[in-house]
Amino acid sequence: MSQAAPATTPVTGARASASVDASGSFGTLYPYSAQTDLGRSRAINEDSVLALPPLFIVADGMGGHEAGEVASSIAVETIREYTPHRADTSALARALKRANKAILDAVTSGAGRKGMGTTCTALLLRDGQCAIAHVGDSRAYLLREGRLSQLTHDHSVVGALIRSGHLTPAEARVHPNRNVITRALGSETEVAIDTHLIPVLPKDRLLICSDGLTTMIEDAYIQQILSTHAEPVMATQALINAANNAGGRDNISCIVIDITREGSASRNAPSRSKLWRWIAIWMVLASIILGAIGFGIFNYAQTKAYLAPAPSGKVNIYQGLPGHMLGISLNTLSVETTVVLETLSIADQEKIGDNIAYDSVENAQRALEQMVQYARPAEKSPPKSKAP
Ligand code: CA
Repeated sequence: MSQAAPATTPVTGARASASVDASGSFGTLYPYSAQTDLGRSRAINEDSVLALPPLFIVADGMGGHEAGEVASSIAVETIREYTPHRADTSALARALKRANKAILDAVTSGAGRKGMGTTCTALLLRDGQCAIAHVGDSRAYLLREGRLSQLTHDHSVVGALIRSGHLTPAEARVHPNRNVITRALGSETEVAIDTHLIPVLPKDRLLICSDGLTTMIEDAYIQQILSTHAEPVMATQALINAANNAGGRDNISCIVIDITREGSASRNAPSRSKLWRWIAIWMVLASIILGAIGFGIFNYAQTKAYLAPAPSGKVNIYQGLPGHMLGISLNTLSVETTVVLETLSIADQEKIGDNIAYDSVENAQRALEQMVQYARPAEKSPPKSKAP
């Protein structure tokens, strides 16, 4: 029997008769599913699961009836209260330490039982980053391009034996001390928290689970299930079914989160790809505006003309305006005249040197003719002599 719970509330196993699930998506970025199941041997479910995007937690409580489920529930509630706003592993670890203190305080106040504790694997997704804080033998996995990798180390007796090469994962699954954990929230006043920060990519799939899954089925089988069930809710259900089919000796909790596209987990912050799209749009608009302005100036320039000295010492008539714009010349040589600059008056030479603009090539040509006319009498007429 499965009982639905709102997607944004913690799913506390103890409340469930058999199985509780929550699924949904955080905007369009992270479709997810969270489920916890009693299993086939236990009378109560001591696991607590939180699916409150961008925060996801699996806590596996221990300590017997009305203790384990209290400890795991205090853990998820406390971390929810103190969860950071960024993928900050140190801040997330501090939230777990507050949970540790809250569990110890609950024992002192009588709200919980002595000896109660919980594992905790908390995962926070922000701005394309996944922050993980972890204590105990619940696990976080990443499925990327079809390959499953474990992101957390088990703080357990068998976990240490596997890392030192004294045990294989298959041997650990049936080891008599497989349930003995070496670190938990609620056991000591000081607790060391493991943290990891990993970038997440589109098509990545994350899994957080309690040992009720991993002591029942092998990683290769988990990889196969995660690779073959497209919907997160189908994947979590298939994982729980597989653990139950293998014996279901413990409570089973799973959260599957899909990264559908690169982006921020913050609803208000624009994603990087959105930002680049806006930059590209503005660059295109700016090019169009600059192009239009340039075209207008070029067209205006073509209605003008000016005189300029040529290297040969003669005067040329140009259509357009002197100079360039965005590397394009605003003028073209229209007429190469035979007028020698030096034969003109000093004032006209200066006018030509200043590239004075005329309204057309014809007007420039007429102006040059007048300069020649003006210069000619002075140049050609002999010095005036007094009449005899
Ligand atoms: Ca367990």
